[in-house]
Amino acid sequence: MSNLFLFEEAVHFPVSDSVLPLFIGVHYGSRYIKVGIVDSEGQTISYFSAAGNGEQNPELEVKRIAELVAYAVKKTGIDFELVPRVGFCFPGSISRVTERLYRPPNLPNWGDFPVVAELNKALGRDVTVYSNDANAAAFAEYWIGAAQGMQSLALIFLGNGIGCGMVIDGDELVGANGFGGEFGHIIIDSSPFARWCSCMKQGHLEAYTSLSAVARRTLELLAVGLESSLSERVDKETALNEIPKMVYEEADKGDKLAKQIIKDTARYVGLGVATLIHTIDPECVLIGGEMTFGGKGSKVGEMFLEEIRNEVEIRGMSSVAKYFKIDFAKLGTYACYIGAAGLAREESLLFSVSE
Ligand SMILES: [Zn+2]
Repeated sequence: MSNLFLFEEAVHFPVSDSVLPLFIGVHYGSRYIKVGIVDSEGQTISYFSAAGNGEQNPELEVKRIAELVAYAVKKTGIDFELVPRVGFCFPGSISRVTERLYRPPNLPNWGDFPVVAELNKALGRDVTVYSNDANAAAFAEYWIGAAQGMQSLALIFLGNGIGCGMVIDGDELVGANGFGGEFGHIIIDSSPFARWCSCMKQGHLEAYTSLSAVARRTLELLAVGLESSLSERVDKETALNEIPKMVYEEADKGDKLAKQIIKDTARYVGLGVATLIHTIDPECVLIGGEMTFGGKGSKVGEMFLEEIRNEVEIRGMSSVAKYFKIDFAKLGTYACYIGAAGLAREESLLFSVSE
């Protein structure tokens, strides 16, 4: 426990009530490390999170991850021998050939870092599988969440960026270079005046639907003098990240402009989803992340979902759109470590079949 600053620790139930073997899922997010011990049916036995320090030296970070895993094993009271594999996920892509990271945008010092080899060394054995965190979350929703019982799904995260994880016929979609599922960079506007994306290209979905994009669209509408209760709360000094939550709150109180901003956001997401379903034909599309405008059961959240559905029906081939289902994701921020553990279990099953 020398270098760890713990945020949370919770042991939910004893190992004696779990289905063996156990798997450990690690979700590394630069500012945090989350570790969950999960049984073979996806139930979380225990969960721990600690501060990450991703901008610093990756070698030291790997040591801290291993330290949190060791702490979780000890606190849960299990023998590490009960864990055949550890799954690791993070916000970036990794080469399946070299097992080194591509330069992740929010982990600048990690480019080319041999994370798998270093993790295996730090954990003391060859147990690691690795994945993009959005794919791990999609896998968790497929395993025990909102897409349980389905074979194909896409999970879209609306937040600072637009993340997307996909499971196709029971397998995560990775792509030749680990960039499969970059849904945020689907082109939804080909005009020369299209908005600029964080990737420095024009017309991408993220440029219209990320937290900051929704905030910018809101500021533009208020600047031309449209009437809205938002004008009492939002000005140029307001932090961009805070604005979408205010838009939701004012829409919930009935503000017309706030509702329109959410409907416009849904329309943009729907344009992207229409392209997506024609490409992969999933059984369902799930919406998660920070910006779900109240989410499941909320009046505004359901309106948001309905508007995405409408847009897909307008744009999509009727034979594809007819079977299209959309819902909110179920597992929230826990999905990533659960999915990492689930992918470790899959790998473990594959190995036991091939042996
Ligand atoms: Zn882009």
